[in-house]
Amino acid sequence: MSNSKQQAQELIDFIHGSPSTYHAVNNIRKELNEAGFQELDLRDEWKVEKGGKYFTTKNGSAIFAFQIGTGEIEEEGFQMICAHSDAPGFKIKPNPEIEVEGNYIKLNTEVYGGPILNTWMDRPLSIAGRVSVKSNDPLHPEHLYVKIDRPLMVIPNLAIHLNRAVNDGVALNKQKDMLPLLSMITEEMEKDNCLVKLIAEELKIDAEAIIDFDVNLFEVEKGCIFGLNDEFISSPRLDDLAMAHAGLKALLSVGNSKKTQMLAIFDNEEVGSVTKQGAGSPVLRHILQRIVFKLGKDMEALHRAIYSSFMISADMAHAVHPNIGEKHDPTNRPFINKGPVIKIHANQKYTTDGDSGTVFETLCKNADVPYQKFVNRSDLVGGSTLGNVSTGQVDIRTVDIGNPMFGMHSVRETGGVEDNAFVRKVFTYFFGL
Ligand SMILES: [Zn+2]
Repeated sequence: MSNSKQQAQELIDFIHGSPSTYHAVNNIRKELNEAGFQELDLRDEWKVEKGGKYFTTKNGSAIFAFQIGTGEIEEEGFQMICAHSDAPGFKIKPNPEIEVEGNYIKLNTEVYGGPILNTWMDRPLSIAGRVSVKSNDPLHPEHLYVKIDRPLMVIPNLAIHLNRAVNDGVALNKQKDMLPLLSMITEEMEKDNCLVKLIAEELKIDAEAIIDFDVNLFEVEKGCIFGLNDEFISSPRLDDLAMAHAGLKALLSVGNSKKTQMLAIFDNEEVGSVTKQGAGSPVLRHILQRIVFKLGKDMEALHRAIYSSFMISADMAHAVHPNIGEKHDPTNRPFINKGPVIKIHANQKYTTDGDSGTVFETLCKNADVPYQKFVNRSDLVGGSTLGNVSTGQVDIRTVDIGNPMFGMHSVRETGGVEDNAFVRKVFTYFFGL
């Protein structure tokens, strides 16, 4: 297997094992632990030193890993890559069981972020997330992770015979049309609370111990490499686990440098980032401050460190679509496997400017990685990302980039095998500076 195919397979394996933000962060935590990074609790007093490797998590769904440089932090600053752990989809509501005409049980869900709804239909789905369990401390329940590895439900389409206009486009109602079918009702079945009972069985605990849950649907089928020459990746959640994974692999593959390397994986980008574990919170600023102060430096040194830093805000980008190319800018045409994309927006939904764009282009040139540019068509409104939200909290020079892909926010997204290898290469070069 070629090196880039092997790296694409690593990404697919990582995403398959990460069907919720909690699982993604826990998998990153495991890899950091294995690589000798020491976990710091946000509530404890920190001890950090030059050359040390550390990480901390917030809410179990955001993670910040850093390798402290051997130089003076106020002169060398932070080399940062940020990405996000969350993906659009469906959360299970409390009291989710709905009985249908005495025969079916379906589950009540709430849409999280902006999924392409129709891609979720007719696919075997299951559930994953965090379960909060009674503990002796009323302020700190115990948290367990659940991931049920078998197909549990489907959101069925309506037959074309019952809706002849289906191929003209169908408006799907989030409350009515998108509820997954879980089971048939049988006589022996205890249908009340059956989801909590299922989770309890999976976790081998009493159903009464489960107080609450943050559980989402996920597509059971694993991602794959496809294409005539095995050049594409089909997977759920490429946005943005592909960038989180590339950042992690880059961090794990570099040794100490004079600069402090940091990987910041935030949660809740898909719902605007303004949560305690999102890029709109002060969490990153507080972590930077603690690092600088715990190295025995002062506020002046923190500010100098921030203004000596550079951030790559990494979130996936749109490749020119093979069937609908007219939706893209006429002169900037990013294609799959032609390298990471620098995202540019005159009104600064992306943080890139001539300065930070030049830095990223230079990084790519030096790392021998091709790169491309993305600008929205002027009559279309694009998405936003982490960079501009994060700079509202910490004003670091930042570039917005991401790998080109099709079908962003589909349950199954398409990216490029070579692009994954390219971005890992340029991230590794950046962290190694
Ligand atoms: Zn994203």
